[in-house]
Amino acid sequence: MAVAEFVYNSPPIRVVFGFGTIGKVADEASRLGMRRALVLSTPEQRADAERVLRLLGDRGRGVFAGARMHTPLEVTQEAMATVGRDGIDGTVALGGGSTTGLGKAIAWRTDLPQIVIPTTYAGSEMTDLLGETAGGEKKTRRDPKIRPETVVYDVELTLGLPPKLSVTSALNAMAHAVEGLYAKDGNPVLSLMAEEGIRALGAALPAFARDPRNRDARGDALYGAWLCGIVLGSSSIAIHHKLCHVLGGTFDLPHAETHAIILPHAIAYNAAAAPEAIGRVARALGVKNAAAGLFDMAKAAGAPTALGAIGMPEAGLDQAADLAVADPYWNPRPLERDAIRALLDDAWRGRRPKAASSE
Ligand code: NAD
Repeated sequence: MAVAEFVYNSPPIRVVFGFGTIGKVADEASRLGMRRALVLSTPEQRADAERVLRLLGDRGRGVFAGARMHTPLEVTQEAMATVGRDGIDGTVALGGGSTTGLGKAIAWRTDLPQIVIPTTYAGSEMTDLLGETAGGEKKTRRDPKIRPETVVYDVELTLGLPPKLSVTSALNAMAHAVEGLYAKDGNPVLSLMAEEGIRALGAALPAFARDPRNRDARGDALYGAWLCGIVLGSSSIAIHHKLCHVLGGTFDLPHAETHAIILPHAIAYNAAAAPEAIGRVARALGVKNAAAGLFDMAKAAGAPTALGAIGMPEAGLDQAADLAVADPYWNPRPLERDAIRALLDDAWRGRRPKAASSE
């Protein structure tokens, strides 16, 4: 590889990583000057949020356990009312991308400092991106205020992540790194992180799929997810994320599962146009063919492989292809309507990606 011109921005996020790091949350809140922090979670993770509140001691003010998928505006407004009423001076979001999204939505409106304690591999905690839904429409914005100040990765909290969500969330994370490897604004440092992130997640995935409480595998996976999140936050996205946004936004398909199904097909689509990037994906996974190898690995770990099985109507495939090319993202291979339609058909049926035939 010949190193060409590039721009590299290192996101100014403090990261505390380890087992049991949740115990450091009060110190981290103190570093940020929080005295009345609001702990955020989904209703399902309320018990962990209450634990964080206890750990915060006199730096905690309360729990708001109303976070929901896709950051609906009405939930944010409800949380904002609590922020105003209780004089909240910072948030601690414990959970996956949905809860992180709520913390970001509050920060965008108030510029309050944020601590995020991620419990999935989605990677949102490393980005300045916020997607919000209002009136059935999802809008995405980017702003430095949205980026969390401190991220506390506690591997212990991921041991109970349900097996299926663990696998699909890991593939969601890998997708960030794959697209970073061929991004038009990528750079050598991000590529190192992307390849290492894919390697760590790829090595961990079969192990935690067999034994969800495998501590080493869980540690490697969260470390990989962190790296993949940095890549997502620092480079632009392409065909894979475009298709997932169309499928999630228009057909309301579940986030991580959609990523898990589309990724091998997006890799196959770009394989000939971005051979070096896709070669690095294969190397990181220890397979000959990145698309087919990833498909096999995901299937063996129990990930869904067919859009048809997660609620995508076959009749919607034409519309999805139209939407993908209507306002296309840059991609190493141009987004061709017929080829995208064929990709979606493969993904709908759960076919092994075609690039496998070159093996
Ligand atoms: P999620 O946050 O919606 O979580 C799914 C469910 O799993 C929730 O009920 C949650 O409470 C539960 N859960 C999470 N961690 C758990 C754990 N360790 N143990 C038990 N239960 C647990 O899922 P997600 O895939 O992390 O996030 C998806 C959302 O994040 C989407 O809305 C997506 O758009 C957004 N996202 C945003 C960015 C960004 O940069 N803005 C990046 C990635 C994802």
